[in-house]
Amino acid sequence: MTKPIALAIHGGCGTLPKSEMSEAEWAEARADLAASLRAGWSILSAGGSAVDAVEAAVRVMEDSAHFNAGYGAAFNAEGEHELDASIMDGATLAAGAVAAVKRIRNPVSAAKALMLRGDPLLLVGPAADTFAAHEGLDTVENGHFSTERRRKNLSSMKIRELVGTAGEASEAEKHGTVGAVALDAAGHLAAATSTGGYTNKPVGRVGDSPIIGAGTYARDGRCAVSGTGKGEYFIRYCVGHELASLIAYKGLPLAEASGAVLGELTAHKIGAGLVAVDADGTIVAPYNTDGMYRGWVTPDGTVHVATHADVEIAGPA
Ligand code: ASP
Repeated sequence: MTKPIALAIHGGCGTLPKSEMSEAEWAEARADLAASLRAGWSILSAGGSAVDAVEAAVRVMEDSAHFNAGYGAAFNAEGEHELDASIMDGATLAAGAVAAVKRIRNPVSAAKALMLRGDPLLLVGPAADTFAAHEGLDTVENGHFSTERRRKNLSSMKIRELVGTAGEASEAEKHGTVGAVALDAAGHLAAATSTGGYTNKPVGRVGDSPIIGAGTYARDGRCAVSGTGKGEYFIRYCVGHELASLIAYKGLPLAEASGAVLGELTAHKIGAGLVAVDADGTIVAPYNTDGMYRGWVTPDGTVHVATHADVEIAGPA
């Protein structure tokens, strides 16, 4: 019997209400999700590693304007972009992460380069930008990441701050993230996450995405997880590690374990979602907001993508 492979992605739980974008724009976002899945699946189906698959899937979403990571990232309070990303190999527990970087076109690849180097695990700010340049990764001006939509989000958050309604901002105005989880034919799990954080975040703020055990976690025999939502809570609850622990120590199935973890976050009235895959290739993609950009490939190689409740079949991988 052939061993199962599995791949799931998310593009963040900060989706707009369906009526606020044209059908053409939604179709474009879904096409970018499908392209991300195909990039990861082509690696897995050729016998490649889960680590390479999640990196490839995340890079596609980092290069899409539709998601808050890489190009299209949120602006911080000073009108700049500071990006966070991480990757983890469930086979060895090796991991790499970068935070508050300003010039790396694909932060997930800098995280992977750091992981392959072995030590340090997490590098921040200008040192991480310099590291990426030394590794020969693409570096860009900070303005490369800017889009009109995120600029509007920043203006509206600044106005909300002035009039005291920042707490009422929609999930879409505030944040987003991209992530991928995979199981490869060798039975290894991996996870990767990349984000611009949230709109109008203070300079230097780092969220959960580059924090191993919070926004990203992978451990063979347990699960691989990538989260999206208010990072401060993902860090407090060590969401990725908590999910893996509920599977390992309580013997909970993935769906039940992820429901329990999401339930704890929801109790704080924060937007949250995640994608996860377990050692058998079971995939979950729960969220508590209006929608979550997400997708997965079923074992027969069919691509599924979604933004809100409806799931679209986007053809073969
Ligand atoms: N988790 C990300 C952060 O807090 C944001 C998000 O996923 O919406 O940086």
